[in-house]
Amino acid sequence: MPATMIDGRALALKVRAEVAADVAAFGAPVCLATILVGDDPASHVYVGSKHKASHEAGIESRDHRFPAATPEPEILDLIAELNADEGVDGILVQLPLPDHMDEPTVLRAVEPAKDVDGFHPLNAGLLYLGEPFLTPATPSGVMVMLAEHGVELRGKDAVVIGRSEIVGKPMAMMLLAEHATVTICHSRTADLEEHARRADILVAAVGRERLVTADMVKPGAVVIDVAMNRNADGKLVGDVDPAVSEVAGLMTPVPGGVGPMTIAMLLRNTLTAAQHRRSEVAAPGA
Ligand code: NAP
Repeated sequence: MPATMIDGRALALKVRAEVAADVAAFGAPVCLATILVGDDPASHVYVGSKHKASHEAGIESRDHRFPAATPEPEILDLIAELNADEGVDGILVQLPLPDHMDEPTVLRAVEPAKDVDGFHPLNAGLLYLGEPFLTPATPSGVMVMLAEHGVELRGKDAVVIGRSEIVGKPMAMMLLAEHATVTICHSRTADLEEHARRADILVAAVGRERLVTADMVKPGAVVIDVAMNRNADGKLVGDVDPAVSEVAGLMTPVPGGVGPMTIAMLLRNTLTAAQHRRSEVAAPGA
């Protein structure tokens, strides 16, 4: 029987509607500031979508865009200004930054309480300690998908392919927090196929078309494809071969799977940051 496909678009709309209702009930303005440096067309599209989604959820947004040659200190000054601005709840620095900038330096300049991407070491550390506050949007979206579909994680074998700071590592931490037995695979993993075949839950976050083939998937497994790759025809594809749908029990399509959830979770994080600053949620690490 072919796998059930998770409808990420429908679930994202549901989460966005919930956030919009919570923003309306919050009773104070909520504001997201974005910073985009350079002229990467995809980044401009992503930032545009984030503003549109914010607007639809009743979240105000401020759009700061700079030419690629902008010196790093200018961006750090803006971040300091936004950190101090009482009217700003969340700050998002769109990646990638131009080569002359040091990504960790810029990301670490964001006040952790406004770090809606969850990339600051304090927020990464809180997740590691099992006290999540603001967590990276993409793996957070995956967890919502798994919960929505009633996927049991306790005691299950979860295999995450990819160990980036923005997807693979936080994904592994979130699955571990739900008591899965987690294996993290990467480019130096000796026998990827063997690890993948053991997975009850397999998450692919690499960026290589057809990396995961049907023979690597346990029958009935849950397969989550985080990747967004452009194939030779310019089509958006994931890491998972579509033929995996003949083996898996539940899986995400690309497009229309994990992608739409990311913006929904960013909105959720922005509201969480606003609630925290007005003390409706516990302080980080409290
Ligand atoms: P990344 O930073 O490039 O990390 C890729 C990871 O894959 C690395 O850990 C790398 O291992 C591993 N890897 C590379 N080749 C491999 C192989 N042959 N076998 C096993 N592991 C391999 O990428 P990322 O930022 O995490 O993004 C991953 C994918 O998700 C991309 O397609 C990206 O576009 C997509 N993405 C989607 C969303 C969304 O909203 N849906 C959000 C973010 C990212 P090493 O660490 O050893 O190099």
